[in-house]
Amino acid sequence: MSETYKAIEVRKPGEFAEVRRPLRDPGHDQVRIRVEACGVCHSDAGTVEGTFRDITYPRVPGHEVVGRIDAVGSGVRGWQVGQRVGVGFLAGSCGYCEFCRGGELVNCRNQENTGIHHDGGYAEVLLAKASGLMSIPDDLSSVDAAPLLCAGLTTFSALRNAPAKAGDLVAIFGIGGLGHLAVQYARYMGFEVVAIARGADKAELAKKLGAHHFIDSAATDAGAALNKLGGAKVILITASGGKTVAETFKGLRPEGASVVLGVGPEPIETSSADLIFGNRKLHGALTGDPATGDATLRFSVLSGASAMIETVPLEQAPAAYAKMMSGKARFRMVLTMGR
Ligand SMILES: [Zn+2]
Ligand SMILES: [Zn+2]
Repeated sequence: MSETYKAIEVRKPGEFAEVRRPLRDPGHDQVRIRVEACGVCHSDAGTVEGTFRDITYPRVPGHEVVGRIDAVGSGVRGWQVGQRVGVGFLAGSCGYCEFCRGGELVNCRNQENTGIHHDGGYAEVLLAKASGLMSIPDDLSSVDAAPLLCAGLTTFSALRNAPAKAGDLVAIFGIGGLGHLAVQYARYMGFEVVAIARGADKAELAKKLGAHHFIDSAATDAGAALNKLGGAKVILITASGGKTVAETFKGLRPEGASVVLGVGPEPIETSSADLIFGNRKLHGALTGDPATGDATLRFSVLSGASAMIETVPLEQAPAAYAKMMSGKARFRMVLTMGR
């Protein structure tokens, strides 16, 4: 076995470098993973552009990582060498803070983020905390599983926790990396699904993904169009766009909720009357816990929901990242490791 491995690190904000790093043994509570695939996610920009705080460079980005455990550190239970696992944005909860003790692993006070506070999956090898691992089903390829660990988990978890029941009207705002998965999950979960996106050319894709209705937010008032359909119980906001988000909020039924998943620079302005009359809610949702990650992967296998993927060799990570940032990826870029 090679004593070094290839990694694509960010040397300083805006500058990628291909390097070889020495192989290290996993520490306490860690496993070492031979990476097989890693998705390229918009949140990688936090590391690449240096917009997240508290990053020590050089840093390897990537938090949609699938690979096989090849060494297990002291204190690790329940995971074996040879097992195929996934690592997402949340790098493993501590188990003892007040939020962990209350079962809210997503809000753990002592949780780092993969590819931000420690090295991520743009590499042949990754050290990961065992408490953050997800289990990859045998009938899901590593490439297909990768985007489900962040884009999939985030949308699946938000839908599963949303106050909608089978048959309710659920709208997905944005049909991009997150939205194209959200539309499929919403359909397979038994909702009446509305896809909202800019441009009539998206209608065909929306239908193909399983949407019952399509609203072109560039041509129509999306809130009014939702109300014409009876009003949405839940709107998943998978893209940025403060103004349109505020517009869609008017299309929520009473007791409905808009759930924000896509990070954008613009503030979302809703009127207090729109919030109060009808008890409507506007809230965010941060990815999901590892058990929900396992469920995301199993549900994807059972339903056939899958990400549309373009694969790129690890060495071309900077180009893959640039394509994702330009908005031209259809829809998830996944790095593969050739050896
Ligand atoms: Zn992500
Ligand atoms: Zn904790």
